[in-house]
Amino acid sequence: MIVVMRVGSTETEIDGVLKRLKELGFKGSLSRGEERTVVGVVGQVYPELADELAVLPGVADVVRVSRPYKLASREFKPDDTVVRVGGVAIGGGNTVMMAGQCSVDTEEQVMATARLVKEAGAHILRGGAFKPRTNPYAFRGLGEKGLQILAAARDETGLPIISEVMDPRDVELVTRYADILQIGSRNMQNFSLLDEVGRCGKPVMLKRGMWAPLQEWLLAAEYILAEGNDQVILCERGIRTFETDTRFTMDLSVIPLAKRLSHLPIIGDPSHATGRWYLVEPMAMASVAAGADGLMVEVHPNPDHALSDGAQSLTFDNFRQLMDRVGEVARAVGRPLAPVS
Ligand code: PEP
Ligand code: MN
Repeated sequence: MIVVMRVGSTETEIDGVLKRLKELGFKGSLSRGEERTVVGVVGQVYPELADELAVLPGVADVVRVSRPYKLASREFKPDDTVVRVGGVAIGGGNTVMMAGQCSVDTEEQVMATARLVKEAGAHILRGGAFKPRTNPYAFRGLGEKGLQILAAARDETGLPIISEVMDPRDVELVTRYADILQIGSRNMQNFSLLDEVGRCGKPVMLKRGMWAPLQEWLLAAEYILAEGNDQVILCERGIRTFETDTRFTMDLSVIPLAKRLSHLPIIGDPSHATGRWYLVEPMAMASVAAGADGLMVEVHPNPDHALSDGAQSLTFDNFRQLMDRVGEVARAVGRPLAPVS
C-alpha cells in the first residue's frame, strides 16, 4: 500500500502520516519524487487500512500496490534510484563499468588488474574474497586477507571496490572494507543475509538467483529495502535453461523489464552469464543496448592461471577492446560511460 501525498503537502502532514503508521504497527518509507511525495507502508496491510489513512491531512490517495514488492516498485518510486559510490553514480543515466578478478589471489596480480582496468576507464574494482564454490575442495577465497589486498588496490588507484559477502556473520567485516557489498546468485534468497546487509549502511548489489523469476528477485531486493537500505543495485548474471553450451543463459529481456517494474539500477554480468571469454564482449554490448546501467566483467592478468572462472575472464587486451566497443554502444544509446575521476 502506498500513501500519495498532495502536491505541496507540508512536513507536518507527512510526519503525521508516518506517526499514524507507527501507531498502527507499520513502518513508513518515504520517497520524495520530483512531482510527488509518497509513503510506502511496510508490513502486512489489511483493506480497511486504506480508509484509515485516506482521511489524514495532506493525503491525496491511498493506492494498493498490485505486486507483492512495494519499496522496489516503480509505483512507490517513479524516479530512478541513483546509487553513489565514491565519485561514481550508478543509475544516473550513464554506463558504469565494474571489472576485476573473479577471486582475489596475489597482491601483485590484483594490483596489476586494478591499474589496467582503471587505465582502460573502469569505475569500480571487483574481486571475491569469500567465494561460493560448488565443490568444497575448490579455492574458497582469501577472506580478510583478500579484502586487505582489495583495499590496498583502492588506495593506489582510487577505484571503489565491490566484494561478495556470503555469511551474515561476515557482513560487519566486509562492510569495513568494501564500498559495495555483493550478494551472490546462490544467496539471493538467504533471507537472514539480506536482512543483515539491509542494516549495513553500504550499497548492496543483489545478483539474480540462477533459478529466480523476476518477482522473486525483486522480493529479495525488498528485504534489503525494508531494513532501511535504499542503496540497492540489481545484477542480471544469467539463468539456468536447457542450454549447455553456455554456462548460463543471459536473460536480456529482464533488463528493460526490471527497469519498467522497478526504480533500482541494474548491472549486466556477461562473464558469469556466458562462462566463455569470447562471448563476454558481445553480451556486454547487448546488455548496454538493452538498458543496463552498467556492467560487471571478470578480468585476469593470466586467465589460464586464475583460481576461479579463468574460462570467462578477459585478458588485459580483451578488456581494453571491450571498453572501446561498449563505449561506442553506450554513446549510441544515449548512456555514455560515466566520467572517470
Ligand atoms: C562472482 O561474481 O564471482 C560470482 C560468484 O557470481 P554469481 O554469484 O553470479 O555466480
Ligand atoms: Mn566469478
